[in-house]
Amino acid sequence: MRVLVTGAAGFLGSHLCDQLISDGHSVIGIDNLQTGRLKNIEHLQSNSKFEFLHHDVTEPIGNLKVDQIYNLACPASPIQYQIDPVKTIKTSFLGAINVLDLALENNCPVLQSSTSEVYGDPTTPEQVEEYWGNVNPIGIRACYDEGKRAAETLFFDYHRQLGAKVKVARIFNTYGPRMDPLDGRVVSNFIIQAIRNEPISIFGDGSHTRSFCYVADLIPGLVSLMNSIPTITGPINLGNNQEFSILELAEEVIRLTESDSNILYLPLPSDDPQQRKPNLKKAEELLSWKPKIELREGLQKTIHHFRELTIY
Ligand code: NAD
Repeated sequence: MRVLVTGAAGFLGSHLCDQLISDGHSVIGIDNLQTGRLKNIEHLQSNSKFEFLHHDVTEPIGNLKVDQIYNLACPASPIQYQIDPVKTIKTSFLGAINVLDLALENNCPVLQSSTSEVYGDPTTPEQVEEYWGNVNPIGIRACYDEGKRAAETLFFDYHRQLGAKVKVARIFNTYGPRMDPLDGRVVSNFIIQAIRNEPISIFGDGSHTRSFCYVADLIPGLVSLMNSIPTITGPINLGNNQEFSILELAEEVIRLTESDSNILYLPLPSDDPQQRKPNLKKAEELLSWKPKIELREGLQKTIHHFRELTIY
């Protein structure tokens, strides 16, 4: 198949391109390089099955003939998506319209990389897909959270009204090689600080929780949702349901890096969610998918990758 991946030069997009090409498909990768890096896809540049288009998804994508579309274009880390919040919400909203229109033209399925952030600061200990969320629509995270919620709305309206073949994955915190080491996401931040023996910065008292999925687990989940029968539209949670406090994560990173870092507690930014844990029943039942890689193993692989970077 000829598969379009938006956000191809980003962390998840580049791993998805690798997977699709190793599955035998041709891939067109689109990216405006706002947060992605050509380095993430440089190993694909000489591959005849890969084509890169420098393009912004807020503009119509043009006349491409494709069999599947994965829409991953959007900055994902709070530091990045808050630099230009107006652009962030435009990317989610206009990007969704542009991939949906292209999917209709091609009569092909389109998968939206939505997020656990649509649940906001959840009031339930475990988030099921039926939970409508608890999002502050005017806060500093809203450009991302509400942008992703509006994109989901567009996906389901295009599906009901126009017959678009849609798939929506709600991705929970995913980590691994090729994350931007400097974009402030908690796993990369802790690893870099630990490798440098600098204080590990915890925002809040460290009791808030997250569930961390290793990238090699997540990508097959996206692919199996895309290739599922048309009646499976999602939204479907994809992530790891082993929940850790941020303090536990910091302690594990310090142990695995054998670092001398201590912990520095800083004020919690506004609207930071207190808890995050996906209910994965739908993914298991409908896609026969569940994560396999334990946090320790995933962290070891990520630490190994980060040690090889030349930023220290
Ligand atoms: P990333 O920032 O590494 O990748 C996003 C990519 O999209 C980058 O290459 C960026 O340059 C590109 N991009 C941004 N705006 C664009 C635009 N207007 N036009 C074209 N390209 C644009 O982030 P990631 O972690 O790889 O996330 C990929 C997708 O998965 C995002 O949509 C994100 O919301 C979603 N997601 C990620 C996570 C996670 O934990 N990594 C969790 C939930 C959802």
